[in-house]
Amino acid sequence: MIHRTSLLLALAGAALACAACAQQPTGRPGSGKGYNDTPMLPGGKWRVHDSKRPSPVVVTPGVASTQEKAGTAPSDATVLFDGKDLSAWQHRDGKDPLWVVENGEFHRPAAPKPSGGDIVTKGEFGDVQLHLEFCSAVPPTGDDQGRGNSGVFFFDGRYEVQVLDSFNNPTYADGSAASLYAQYPPLVNASRKPGEWQTYDIIFIAPRFKDGKVETPGTVTMLHNGVLVHNKTALMGRNLHRTFPTYEAHGLKGRLGLQDHGSIVRFRNVWVRDVKDYDD
Ligand code: MG
Repeated sequence: MIHRTSLLLALAGAALACAACAQQPTGRPGSGKGYNDTPMLPGGKWRVHDSKRPSPVVVTPGVASTQEKAGTAPSDATVLFDGKDLSAWQHRDGKDPLWVVENGEFHRPAAPKPSGGDIVTKGEFGDVQLHLEFCSAVPPTGDDQGRGNSGVFFFDGRYEVQVLDSFNNPTYADGSAASLYAQYPPLVNASRKPGEWQTYDIIFIAPRFKDGKVETPGTVTMLHNGVLVHNKTALMGRNLHRTFPTYEAHGLKGRLGLQDHGSIVRFRNVWVRDVKDYDD
């Protein structure tokens, strides 16, 4: 009799545990605060103020940058440049970067030294939040697309957020600083003067493909110096010079990159975070 009771209790406990598992697929606990009798939200997974809904993971924010000093990354970021070296990067051919690291910054080498061209990350990334800081040369040299040109690449160079000195430097709108090159100008020109550090915070959601065709376009949400310049803007395809944008199917992850367009643009404080889902 005792054994039978124990067995029943064990079964009941297991059933309760299973029910808890079903409601918390990530294994992360809820706070226990809240309600269990409120309406179900759309999706049928959680109630309004659900006490079992996993609490958000704590992330320590980085210290904000100043003009004088680079900031720091949040605690869960992948740091791509922390002021010391370019060990997270390589050239497209796999060789070590020829770009120069000095004073906690990095840039392509000054001519006539060989530059090695664009640099790309060794790691691959999918949907990301990317932070970087750049500083255009002062005094500025060149004009139009020849002034402070670089670029932030996603998915092995397919998609480019333009880097340019767009302070008093007229150029075609969809080639301005923070443009989605050849597709969308930024909503506003939030450029700082050359010689001042600027920030890009880019949320890049990768396109999804099915049977070789785009199913969901990629989107970009972006702040330039803290100012919204793209708001879930859907990419039309690859960002190419003088070329109609079309998609070319690719996987869920690809390498990030920085363009060598011949201009000396200094970079610092580069980090990336995977875009999470609410229950991750
Ligand atoms: Mg460029």
